Amino acid sequence: MRKYTCVVCGYVYDEAAGIPDKGIAPGTQWDSLPGNFRCPLCKAQKSLFKQLDEPPEPEQAADAEMSPGALYAICDRLAQACDGQGLPDEREAFEQIAAYFKAEAGDTPNTLAGEANQREPGDMLPQSDQTRALLDALLDYSVPDFPMDAVIFLIQNL
Ligand SMILES: [Zn+2]
Repeated sequence: MRKYTCVVCGYVYDEAAGIPDKGIAPGTQWDSLPGNFRCPLCKAQKSLFKQLDEPPEPEQAADAEMSPGALYAICDRLAQACDGQGLPDEREAFEQIAAYFKAEAGDTPNTLAGEANQREPGDMLPQSDQTRALLDALLDYSVPDFPMDAVIFLIQNL
């Protein structure tokens, strides 16, 4: 059994696990997936996956080149995780960032929100190095409407 990773958002398809939620049974080989298969997280095409030789680096999710949809899904999930930890201000900040990327993503935010909600809120902790690296990468977002105050608040308070 092999694994394939989405080069856009870092999602990993594991042949051994399949994606039962999407009707893809455990043990389904990559080559057997339909040509219209899309990354369940960011909707990237099948051609944008590459085979994994080794487990992905933990820093992978902090890639500033991730799509707005993937960033929205991650920030939305982090907002939920903060809610679970009783951190209303941090939740608010992540929600502001998520709202920005949701607007950027445009067409499929509801689908992406569904994906985010299906995940365990704890699979990427707000206090993790991964989250910190993501926030550091977001500091480079020098666009007018980006909620930079929220990013700075999170870096200072998490
Ligand atoms: Zn993806």
